Amino acid sequence: MAQSYQDLLAAAREHVPELQVSDLAERLASGDAPLVIDIREQAEWDEGHIPGALHVPRSFLESRIAGVAAQDREIVLACASGQRSLLGAVTLQLMGYERVLNLAGGFQRWKQAGHHYDVPQTLSPAQRSRYSRHLLIPEVGEEGQLTLLNSRVLMIGAGALGSPAAYYLAAAGVGTIGIVDDDVVDMSNLQRQIIHTTERVGMNKGESAKIAIEALNPEVRVNVHPVRINRDNVLDLMGQYDIVLDGTDNFPTRYLLNDAALMTRTPLMHASILRFEGHASVFLPYEGPCYRCLFPEPPPPELAPSCGEAGVLGVLPGLMGNIQATEAIKVLLGAGETLSGRLLIYDALQMTFDELKIRRDPHCPACGEHAHLEFRDYDAWCSGVGRHTSEPLPA
Ligand code: ZN
Repeated sequence: MAQSYQDLLAAAREHVPELQVSDLAERLASGDAPLVIDIREQAEWDEGHIPGALHVPRSFLESRIAGVAAQDREIVLACASGQRSLLGAVTLQLMGYERVLNLAGGFQRWKQAGHHYDVPQTLSPAQRSRYSRHLLIPEVGEEGQLTLLNSRVLMIGAGALGSPAAYYLAAAGVGTIGIVDDDVVDMSNLQRQIIHTTERVGMNKGESAKIAIEALNPEVRVNVHPVRINRDNVLDLMGQYDIVLDGTDNFPTRYLLNDAALMTRTPLMHASILRFEGHASVFLPYEGPCYRCLFPEPPPPELAPSCGEAGVLGVLPGLMGNIQATEAIKVLLGAGETLSGRLLIYDALQMTFDELKIRRDPHCPACGEHAHLEFRDYDAWCSGVGRHTSEPLPA
């Protein structure tokens, strides 16, 4: 015998007990709450929902319920007005769920009664489309993408390492990217610094990078800091960001960044490049080793040539900068195993990846137990003044 919608609802009411919103609010407040499952559509959920509720859209209720609740669990189903959830509750009863209640009047009545509700931050349709391949990865997903959008990464330098790193971080949707660089684009940069263009030779590198980033992903906020990083500005700059990415090519700045990262407890993504070889690691302040656990003293100047002196294969920083960006995203998301405690050594000529274990040194002059961390004159120190030892870099 055919039944109308009203008949269906009337029959369902005979089998499904109701819970009033005031009773649910009381039970939530007392910590004795049943599992609230909100079966509305995504757009309805996005406009607000009962705190602590689980979102399982009606179309997925049967297929997903086993994953979220055991059959003996007390469940309250909620929708906008209490009708869709009533019919959903009948289905759950058929599936063996015996303690299913229907929230009378649904979310509308909850809201009208003045109870608190959460409005989640969500991705816009345009963001869903742009980041759709991230949304498919469980380790990122909507929550992870929102984390990236709310993240702030400071790039020290928009050069060889900073070019690919900033580009990919912007593509990935890191919401704010700060670029510290007082240098201008030179023709000799373009062999590897791919965020710049021939047309922008002579422009500040931060400004040039900003143009490229905004063309790729206009919603990324780019803060250009056209200064040279130094003892006076490093703490203020680092304090504005969640993560710092070292794209410099000199030892004084590398040590300055290490010490400032410890002082501000900012995770530091490290990489260095020369000719065909690249190094990368992640320094998590006081959790893993720092740069000075690895190299307590800078190498003598004659053993530490720069790329300007010794050259660098143009594609090498493309890989190393991307490793830094990858590690930055993992640290921001809290996903996977980072390079903390490991120095990755890439030899492009032999095409080999090796790893050196690095441990936190309890006697480290920067992060050790008795370290008195303060800034020094890094330029003088790295040029050999006031140095106690002069050991070369490990091969
Ligand atoms: Zn250390």
